[in-house]
Amino acid sequence: MNSFALADCSTIEAALSQLKDGAIVKAGGVDLLDRMKNGTDTPARLVNIRNISELRGIHPTGNGGAGGLTIGALTTLAEVADAPAVRSHYTVLADACGHAATPHIRNMATLGGNLLQQLQCWYYRSADFQCLRKGKDICYAFSGLNQYHAIMDYGGCPSVAPSSGAVALLALDASVELASAAKGKRTVAIRDFYLQPDSNPHSFHVMAADELLTAVHIPRPATGTRSAYQKYGEKESHDWAIADAGILLEMDGNLCRRAVVAMGAASPVVRRSHEAEAALTGKPITPETARAAGQASMTGAMPLSMNAYKVQLFPVAIYRTILLAAGQMDRDPSATG
Ligand SMILES: Cc1cc2nc3c(=O)[nH]c(=O)nc-3n(C[C@H](O)[C@H](O)[C@H](O)COP(=O)(O)OP(=O)(O)OC[C@H]3O[C@@H](n4cnc5c(N)ncnc54)[C@H](O)[C@@H]3O)c2cc1C
Repeated sequence: MNSFALADCSTIEAALSQLKDGAIVKAGGVDLLDRMKNGTDTPARLVNIRNISELRGIHPTGNGGAGGLTIGALTTLAEVADAPAVRSHYTVLADACGHAATPHIRNMATLGGNLLQQLQCWYYRSADFQCLRKGKDICYAFSGLNQYHAIMDYGGCPSVAPSSGAVALLALDASVELASAAKGKRTVAIRDFYLQPDSNPHSFHVMAADELLTAVHIPRPATGTRSAYQKYGEKESHDWAIADAGILLEMDGNLCRRAVVAMGAASPVVRRSHEAEAALTGKPITPETARAAGQASMTGAMPLSMNAYKVQLFPVAIYRTILLAAGQMDRDPSATG
């Protein structure tokens, strides 16, 4: 690891004033230190935000929570997963944070860092490979080892969106609050936050280098909403998803008024399957409609040489998670985390 300076900050203003000349934010450090040890990131200065208490905590907004929730960027995944306010009305987010990584990691990892962890691709995350994302015109995954890579919407880079939290927050129509010393605050919807590789291969999100992610805002789901997240991996724990699903069902009696089917490990950017959503909207949730939605989610899939199994796994993940959200199936013991 290269030597680096450490700026220990206890206020947002202090951190923002340090975010220049290639400095990088360190929150929990789980992803960042991994990249620094791999030699893919060699910052001259780290800005440690871990002691900024105003970036921590879960706050109901509006009338006793009627407006939704604001979650500080430094709130850990464990805190999000365990909070009664999240568990009661935002189950998909509690599930996603509570099943990411391991208990130790969930105690260190922050929600902001989870959303900003770098893409999963072993070529991209190795200092030995210079690929499209690093300014070259080659992708090694297309002709190389691609069993964990994307099957949809990948353009020139089939890396996969790694964040379980982002899948849940996409399902919940959440947005992130960003702040910089030069431009002040702005809010960006999660659906607009991540960038497709073909629109900008060098950055996977819209944040500028001098910006800090300060909070996540989540609107309160409509009355009658049920939601769930499940992830499937190669191992039972300790690993990212190879297929995952965040499901939100707005129910009107027996009928599904509105459905959101969010997917992570299918593509470089967390995505909604509008085809799967159409298969549920206006219908009762049954094993048949859930199965049809799972199948519809694979519209447009273009698996690579080693990951056609994902075209079978995603429909199962989506089918089981729809039924879990609807209260018609228990959490799948073969789901991971
Ligand atoms: C074995 C293993 C299994 C895992 N499984 C999963 C999984 O199933 N699901 C999942 O979602 N994740 C998984 N992870 C990833 C883990 O959840 C993330 O690495 C972690 O959430 C990152 O959070 P952090 O606070 O440590 O971020 P850091 O490592 O501190 O930061 C990550 C990136 O975000 C930037 N950053 C962090 N916070 C801010 C901020 N507030 N403003 C601006 N920039 C910021 C940093 O500069 C850095 O580039 C796994 C990790 C491991 C090691």
